[in-house]
Amino acid sequence: MSKVLIVAEHAAGALNLSTAKSLSCARALGDAEVDILVQAADAAPVAAAAAVLAGVRRVLTVERPENLEPLAALYAPQVAALAAGYTHVLGPSTTFGKDLMPHVAALLGVSQISDVMAVEGPYRFRRPVYAGNAVVTVEAPAGRVVVATVRTASFQPADGGGAAVIEPLELRVEFPTHTRFVSRSAANSDRPDLQTAARVVAGGRALASAGNFQLLYGLADALGAAVGASRAAVDAGYVPNDLQVGQTGKIIAPELYIALGISGAIQHLTGIKDARTIVAINKDSEAPIFEVADFGLVGDLFQIVPELERLIRLGHSGGDSHG
Ligand SMILES: Cc1cc2nc3c(=O)[nH]c(=O)nc-3n(C[C@H](O)[C@H](O)[C@H](O)COP(=O)(O)OP(=O)(O)OC[C@H]3O[C@@H](n4cnc5c(N)ncnc54)[C@H](O)[C@@H]3O)c2cc1C
Repeated sequence: MSKVLIVAEHAAGALNLSTAKSLSCARALGDAEVDILVQAADAAPVAAAAAVLAGVRRVLTVERPENLEPLAALYAPQVAALAAGYTHVLGPSTTFGKDLMPHVAALLGVSQISDVMAVEGPYRFRRPVYAGNAVVTVEAPAGRVVVATVRTASFQPADGGGAAVIEPLELRVEFPTHTRFVSRSAANSDRPDLQTAARVVAGGRALASAGNFQLLYGLADALGAAVGASRAAVDAGYVPNDLQVGQTGKIIAPELYIALGISGAIQHLTGIKDARTIVAINKDSEAPIFEVADFGLVGDLFQIVPELERLIRLGHSGGDSHG
């Protein structure tokens, strides 16, 4: 039987959906006992959210002031200290997990398996390579702990309805002195989180300025969508790089992805290949994005987007007036 430890991702007291998706990956291992580890300064709200996920045996909490910020250098020794009792240690393939899990693997002296997209057996996994253009099956040596990141776009979140035991732990670990928290700078936004949003509106180089991106924000707000961007838009400084979608940005799987003035380079498509419905607006009818789009509109986004936003808002208000 596999014994799996999942490292919970959370922020501001809320459990990130990536944890429920990692749980689905763990359950795909078959006969598995799954524990979730919550490292936090105040673990209670996150632990409560993790405990109701279906199929979790225990939620282990490690509460200490050092865990206020998710510093990989400080989280990793705690995860490694717990790993001895497990066959697998999983984290999400998000910015959090991509930072943390290699530290954990290094401390345990094993190679990490990155971006697990399917489980073929307790030690056999499928993962994408070459920007998602090929999929390989990899096998980890049995008898050694498997440290892996889970490609969250490939798994549905596990359901609720569980009632796991919550167990506080005290860990004796030595923290490295080379890393300490200095400050956090993050864009404050009320918009949905790009990585887990059901709808995403993304813009490319065609937006041509940070100011023009306001057009996208209006449409995104009308749709209740997150905002994303191509690397060209990020490199040009129109938006911060945490909005980048693609091979070197975020891999997302929204229900709806609207690409505005994005050509559809392979590195961008890697980030959206699991989107349920792709809508592309581009003035070039030959743009490669149309090859993957479910719906395409050839035209100038500067004309189409305001009209689209107007129609959506009209639809909302029409819906409201009819109760
Ligand atoms: C190793 C590596 C990693 C990379 N990782 C990523 C990644 O993670 N994410 C990513 O996005 N890219 C990535 N790239 C870059 C990628 O190759 C492309 O350069 C980038 O995606 C292009 O961005 P774009 O589509 O916005 O710009 P362009 O390719 O310049 O496309 C702009 C599009 O806008 C259209 N357009 C122009 N004006 C209008 C208008 N008024 N109305 C409507 N349409 C208009 C044009 O027809 C064109 O199709 C990576 C590249 C490398 C080499």
